[in-house]
Amino acid sequence: MSTLTPAIDLSHHINQATQLRVPSPLKAIFKHMKTPGMISLASGLPHPSTFPFESLHVKVCAPDAKGIPGEKYTSTSSTTISVPKYPCVENEQNTLSIALQYSDATGSARLTSFMYDFTKRVMKPGYSDWQVLLHSGSTDGWSKVVSLMCEKDEYILVEEHTFSSAQAFWAPICKAAPVAIDHEGLIPEDLEDVLEHWDEKHPGSKRPHLLYTVPVGQNPTGATMGLERKKQIYDICVKHDVIICEDEPYYFLQFPRYVLPFQRCLPQPARYISEEEFVGSLVPTFLSLDYQGRVIRLETFSKTLGPGNRLGYFVCNPVFAERLLRATEVTTQTASGWSQAIVEQLIVSHWGHEGFLRWLMGLGDVYTTRRDWMCDLLSETFDLVSTGNSDELLAISKDSGKDGQKTPFFTFSPPRSGMFVYIKLHLEHTSSFKALKTEGEEDAENMWAQMFWESLIEEKVLLVPGDYYAPYIGRGQRVKPKPGVAFFRLAFCYESKEEMKLGIQRMGRVFAKYWDSEL
Ligand code: PLP
Ligand code: PMP
Repeated sequence: MSTLTPAIDLSHHINQATQLRVPSPLKAIFKHMKTPGMISLASGLPHPSTFPFESLHVKVCAPDAKGIPGEKYTSTSSTTISVPKYPCVENEQNTLSIALQYSDATGSARLTSFMYDFTKRVMKPGYSDWQVLLHSGSTDGWSKVVSLMCEKDEYILVEEHTFSSAQAFWAPICKAAPVAIDHEGLIPEDLEDVLEHWDEKHPGSKRPHLLYTVPVGQNPTGATMGLERKKQIYDICVKHDVIICEDEPYYFLQFPRYVLPFQRCLPQPARYISEEEFVGSLVPTFLSLDYQGRVIRLETFSKTLGPGNRLGYFVCNPVFAERLLRATEVTTQTASGWSQAIVEQLIVSHWGHEGFLRWLMGLGDVYTTRRDWMCDLLSETFDLVSTGNSDELLAISKDSGKDGQKTPFFTFSPPRSGMFVYIKLHLEHTSSFKALKTEGEEDAENMWAQMFWESLIEEKVLLVPGDYYAPYIGRGQRVKPKPGVAFFRLAFCYESKEEMKLGIQRMGRVFAKYWDSEL
């Protein structure tokens, strides 16, 4: 028997507009249409005979098909999944006549129920009455969370390097309260400090009550937050009554520690034997610690089945789920019927839990290979030496300069999850940065980074400058960079190994030029 308790009442976190939101009148009528014998002269549903689609057939991979990362992949073991327009057999649940029709905003009950069971098995929420609600991807999900909770001009707690698109949504409405991070993400002591001293430092401002965090594969830093860290942060959020929105597109892309090529033993053993072992290897979620219902988890199929599906789901307490449903009714209505039909047919009817987990295990391997490519290629262009600070590596020139010293360029921590390597450049030895400082430029770090970025583009290699992730602390005003450093984000998710190699060699040339060094 379950010993979990229901969520506590957290309805005071809902903003005024959302408190006042009424159900969509037309959606409310839907439930009566399901009454046996009801003749509906009510809703304006187009008759399915007017949909010009007869059936849907999609060729899909076997769940353990991995392919070679970066190569166009044609599965030798593909199957065709089909969705008919009308039921072909009694009780057929997934048909185009339903998927392409209006429905209540909860969308596919079968897909929702599958994701509920999957969440229970994999994430193990820590309270009893949590719910699953489909959305149209985490971008949509996050916009609905901000609209659920935030009032104009209030503050949102964010990582001090925060995901740029999430921020771009709230930046016109709210302000950031940045929290310091390290290689494991948010630093609990700093979160505590921000909240403990809020009233002194922000007299008259409402205390922040929403934390936006990407605990696994943090975008842009690639940090992975361990269980102990999560426990500390959860406890602080309980103490200060803060809701945690965990945005987790990279959750299933978790890797073993990076080992430099010369220290690696070959062949490497298989990572997992069973699906259970895979599930057990994943770092526990905030949701699993959540005994009060104060975590809103954003799940998305974007990184597991493709971003164009525009499909994901919330996991949250029933009060928030009901308000998010009301918002869904009058905004997106439901996630796209096509996406729901295809994903339902693939993972519910065809793959099942075991198949979906096998697919996710395969993805973990693909991204481990890609992470290793990037770090190995960095070690070909630069020498990588340990800084002694956790897994952090320092990239230095392979050759010594005139002074007999090797040039230090940047530090980074090889990620244990996600898609990104975030490099921290140490500018004090570059003459171009020194010149900007001598000229008394206040914004020398950003000016230097812009110049360096343009040089990278001239050399035909594209990175994302770190200032894209600087939190907005006021209208148009962003957190200033730390003195003498600049950050850039490299993604290892897309390019082939050859292209990555070329890109990193080009990057190396720009480093050599700016540091006036040999490589
Ligand atoms: N949240 C984070 C942290 C992301 O990195 C991304 C995309 O990379 C998204 C959300 C967007 O996800 P979706 O495609 O589900 O909207
Ligand atoms: N465009 C959109 C609309 C996205 O949602 C994403 C994924 N976040 C991207 C682009 C890629 O962004 P990034 O490289 O920052 O993850």
